[in-house]
Order: sequence, then C-alpha cells, then structure tokens
Amino acid sequence: MADLVLFWHRRDLRITDNIGLSAARAHSSKVVGIFCLDPNILNRDDMAPARVSYMVGCLQALEQRYECAGSQLLFLKAKPEQAIPQLARALQASSVYWNQDVEPYGRERDRKVTEALQNEGIAVSTFWDQLLHAPGEILTGAGEPYTVYTPFWRNWSSKTKLAPVPKFGNAQGLTPEEHATAIEAGIMPLPTAPELGFVWDAPLIMDPGEQAAQETLDYFCHNAIAEYQENRNFPGVPGTSLLSAPLKFGAIGIRTVWTATTIVLEDCRSDEMRASIQTWRQELAWREFYQHALYAFPTLADGPYRSLWRNFPWQGTDAQFEAWCNGQTGFPIVDAAMRQLNQTGWMHNRCRMIVASFLTKDLIVNWQRGEKYFMQNLIDGDLSANNGGWQWSASSGMDPKPLRIFNPSTQAQKFDPEADYIREWIPELRSVDTTQLVSGKIPIEVCDRAGYPVPIVDHAVQQRLFKQLYQQQK
Ligand SMILES: Cc1cc2nc3c(=O)[nH]c(=O)nc-3n(C[C@H](O)[C@H](O)[C@H](O)COP(=O)(O)OP(=O)(O)OC[C@H]3O[C@@H](n4cnc5c(N)ncnc54)[C@H](O)[C@@H]3O)c2cc1C
Repeated sequence: MADLVLFWHRRDLRITDNIGLSAARAHSSKVVGIFCLDPNILNRDDMAPARVSYMVGCLQALEQRYECAGSQLLFLKAKPEQAIPQLARALQASSVYWNQDVEPYGRERDRKVTEALQNEGIAVSTFWDQLLHAPGEILTGAGEPYTVYTPFWRNWSSKTKLAPVPKFGNAQGLTPEEHATAIEAGIMPLPTAPELGFVWDAPLIMDPGEQAAQETLDYFCHNAIAEYQENRNFPGVPGTSLLSAPLKFGAIGIRTVWTATTIVLEDCRSDEMRASIQTWRQELAWREFYQHALYAFPTLADGPYRSLWRNFPWQGTDAQFEAWCNGQTGFPIVDAAMRQLNQTGWMHNRCRMIVASFLTKDLIVNWQRGEKYFMQNLIDGDLSANNGGWQWSASSGMDPKPLRIFNPSTQAQKFDPEADYIREWIPELRSVDTTQLVSGKIPIEVCDRAGYPVPIVDHAVQQRLFKQLYQQQK
C-alpha cells in the first residue's frame, strides 16, 4: 500500500505548477490535500471580507480539482499545531508536505507544527514555491539581504528562473473508512465566507480559482501587457494585470506567470512592447523584494524600518482619518481612490501611492493606521507588499529617497487628466468642470450643491508643517 502524504495548502491554492504538491505526488501515489482555517488568522481585526470571500472561492475550486484528480481536500478549523498532527496521526500519514512562507506568524506556526509532527514520528518536507527566488538566494556581494530595490532587481533578474513544475495528476485519496476516521479527527465541510463571519455583497473584481487566474494572465499577456509601461499609471485605464489576489493566494504559480512573459517577449515586435514587459517583470520583482525584506527583517511587520520614525509626532485627528477612510476629504483624486477601495476591495497602484502619501504627509496620520485600513479592505491584502508600500510612501522604509511628498492635484492632472476616474467614483461631481476636478479647486457653492466636502486641509500648509516636524526629528 502506498504511503499517505498530506499536503498542507496555505497560499498555494492550486494543483498546477505547485512545487511542494508536485514533490508530494512524486513521493507517493496517495496524496490528500488539507487546509486549516486558522482562528489566529481569521480572528484578527484586519481581515477583509472581500479577501476571505476570494479565498473561500479559491478553496471551493481547489476542492473540485482534487476530486477530479481522484483525491480529496480536507478542511480543518482549529490551531494548525494541534489539528494537523492530530489528523496526520489518526490517518497514519507518513509525512506532511508544504510550501514555506515569509511572514513572521507563519514561520513560527510552521516551527510549532514541525515540532509536533516530528514528536509523532511523522516526517515533514518543505519547499519554496511562492517566489521565483527564495530568501537567501539573492544576496549582496557581502552575503547580506538587499535593502535597496535597484541592485536587488539587477541581481534577481540576472538569475535563471525555474520552469513551471508538472501538474498534479491522478492521485489516490482516502478510503471511506479513512474518511470516517478523518471526520472523527476534526475535518469539516468548507464553510462559506458568511459562515466564517465575513460578508461581501459586491461582485469580486475577479472570479476565484486557478482557471480564472490563468484566464486573467492569458488575457493580460495578449492585451494590456503591450502598453503596460505607459498605461499602468492611469487609474482610469484598465492597464494592469489584476493578478495581485491570485498571486497572494497562489491561485496561479509564479513560474507560470514568468514563463508567460518569456513567451510574449519572444513574440515581441517593438521596443516599446519589450520595455513594457520588462517593466511588468520589475513589478514582479518588487513583490519578491518585499517578501525577501520581510523574511530578513521580520520586525518590519511591527513598525518603521528607519528609527527616525519611531517617535514621530503625528498630528492628524480621528475625524481626519475617518474622512480619509470614507472618501470625504474634499480632495477628489484621494476620495475617488478610497471609494474604489471601499466598493471593490481593490485600488489602483498609482492611487495607493497617492492616498498613502496624503494620509501620512497631508493629514500627518501614522502610516500604520492606513496600513491596517488597507488590510481590512483589500482583496489582495498581503503583509509584505502592503507594509512595503506603506513604508515606501511614509518614507519610513527601505527607500534611498529620504522624503517623498505627492501633491494630489499634480498627480490628478498627470494621471487622470480628463477626470474619468474621479467622475467614475464620485458620482456627485460628474457634471463639475474637468479643470476644477483635477486641480481640486472646486468652488464652495459647487461643493455645497453636490453635497461634497470642501478640502479638510490645505496641502501647502500641511506640507510645510510636515517638513518642519521631519527636520525636528532628524
Ligand atoms: C500603500 C501600498 C499598499 C499596497 N498593498 C498591497 C497589498 O496589500 N498587496 C499587494 O499585492 N500589493 C500591494 N501594493 C502593490 C500594488 O499596488 C499592487 O500589487 C497592484 O496595484 C495590484 O494590481 P495588479 O495586480 O493589477 O498589478 P500589476 O501592475 O499588474 O503588477 C503585477 C503584480 O506585481 C506585484 N506588484 C506590483 N506592484 C507591486 C508593489 N509595489 N509591491 C509589491 N508587489 C507589487 C503584484 O503581485 C501584482 O499583481 C501596495 C502598494 C502601495 C503603494
């Protein structure tokens, strides 16, 4: 009889191009998937309903994939360090396989699960899957982790990338008797997102599951990637891939994504297109840079990288923070972006930078409040990318530029020149003149008539104040 191997899915919700799962299948013909709904994660106060809904949708799709392959995906809802060894022991599994993570909580959890399994005499095999290059593979000449993106990119892009690994084919699952034993050991049917306490009524920005992720990648590679370099900055243009949630949950393999860019590069007919593909690859490298950084410096999760920011005298009020959250600051580009986030669970990257700069440099509110609000709402909310983006915007992170302040009007004039994006998300301003919308200089009586707030701060005054506070801290 074949050894039973349990494969523990976490942020790799797919059977295609999955390094750990492929290795499990190479080891044994009897491979059963498990997913643990971890109360330590689900009970956090920064879980976004859109993100949980997307994740549950991916799990439903994955469950079907296992069934088609002849096996099962089993669900547990308990602390992994207790539930997984208990299930593995009850089923007499020979080993448990999984792909590693970079987050501090996940690493500590994995340490505890490993210890508990090894105490039971059950083998553990782990792999790196979610990155093209694992932490430790990309180091400076002195053998240190990078703290600056550009040299990281140079080194990272020069390294050979792995091809996608073979799809998990047919596998044996549990017998009916073993299934009954698994039920006794705590497995349960997959709950819905509302059953887990998360209600998201709006449509998800994309369908969950690996098939939808693959279709999104194919569509992007046949269309928008060609003009990505230009269009990616315009929030009113559908110029980006929308792959962040699939990449966060591993509904698509990163090697599959990379290989798709290689195929378009080979067919590429113009220098512009070649440059666009390269720019998109640089975004994939930002994702890896922030994951490597979090792995090397786990304390990034708790606060600023640069010590200057630890005791920064933040000035913003709760009312200002609320106005920012609700898209009611009186700065159209900022409000449009926050409303996009609140209504769809996603925000364009340019706008993430604009609203983050506005919260920290104009309202002078601690960036960690914005970081948390993003996690509470983003479908793609991810500790490393979100923390990296916020620290970059707040100037507290690994960015050689000491102080970066975005002017909301200049940003809108450059990146939403016809105010299409502003009009889409602020319907009460649809009939307002474009110049007024992008400059943010809307006459008071127009604001009153539309029921739209006048600006809650003066950008020039706040910029001066912020710089003063910054100088004092230095
Ligand atoms: C303040 C702030 C917070 C952010 N929070 C998150 C987050 O929680 N989760 C998240 O995935 N991204 C985050 N980003 C990065 C970026 O905004 C999103 O990845 C991007 O908007 C997702 O849209 P897309 O998939 O269409 O991106 P594309 O432009 O098509 O990029 C392709 C992929 O590259 C990766 N990527 C792109 N830009 C970045 C970046 N700056 N940092 C890290 N990875 C990147 C993403 O995986 C993305 O899907 C944040 C950026 C900022 C400035």
